[in-house]
Amino acid sequence: MGMNITFFGTAGGRIVIMTQTRASGGFVLEMDGERIHVDPGPGALVRAKQYGVNLRKLTGLIVSHCHPDHYTDAEMVIESMTEGTRKKRGILIGNEHVIKGGDEYRPVISPFHLRILERYEILKPGGKTKIGNLEIIATPTKHGEEKALGFVFKGSKTLGYCGDGEYFKGQEKHFEGCDYLLLNVLRPRNVKWPEHMNTNQAAKLIGLVKPSLAIIQHFGMIMLKANPEKEAKWIEKETGVKTIAARDGMRIDFEKFSKHGLNKWIK
Ligand SMILES: [Zn+2]
Repeated sequence: MGMNITFFGTAGGRIVIMTQTRASGGFVLEMDGERIHVDPGPGALVRAKQYGVNLRKLTGLIVSHCHPDHYTDAEMVIESMTEGTRKKRGILIGNEHVIKGGDEYRPVISPFHLRILERYEILKPGGKTKIGNLEIIATPTKHGEEKALGFVFKGSKTLGYCGDGEYFKGQEKHFEGCDYLLLNVLRPRNVKWPEHMNTNQAAKLIGLVKPSLAIIQHFGMIMLKANPEKEAKWIEKETGVKTIAARDGMRIDFEKFSKHGLNKWIK
């Protein structure tokens, strides 16, 4: 079955999001017959229209953590997924803060929106659930939102999404055997920002996991100035793993990538 990702945005960091220097709608993964919106930040609905993705056909929504660039459009996405609240359908997966709130956070999905879903689940690192035939496993992160998650999507192929956060020792174990790896890389080489990943850390993780393709996204302003394409090239040189920098509206067709190699799999 086909597998693709459409990027509704590649923004990371407050300035890039505030100014919409890059868009911030998260991404939509189509895999083994499921269509899952991940981290629908500001403008997700606008980008769905712009890039021609019908959100009424979503089967799942995932919100990795309680930062607004990952959740602001989540309730509207649920309204789309439920045919304007008329059908009880779709599965929501969130971390504890997203659904229950915490000392520093309020829940970002209302009880009404939880009720109209087919099902919702709170995952903790190591927890797993299913959307259709896809197994979804939550992975830990080292991020300011301390319950933030990454995910592994296991179906006919395996995709790892690291979520927000800096590299930590042993992170690679959670993504072992992933065919593809998607990383939020806020900063370029040699620019550190605690609890966020930079290019050096991304290269380390990619080099240890050795997927057949790595994709970087979620760029802050310094990263954009450094040029994400150049950073991706550097990672590729360091690790020997094909690495690309996502652009807004990019669609990656993984089937074409594995059959035909480069150049024919990006729209
Ligand atoms: Zn965050």
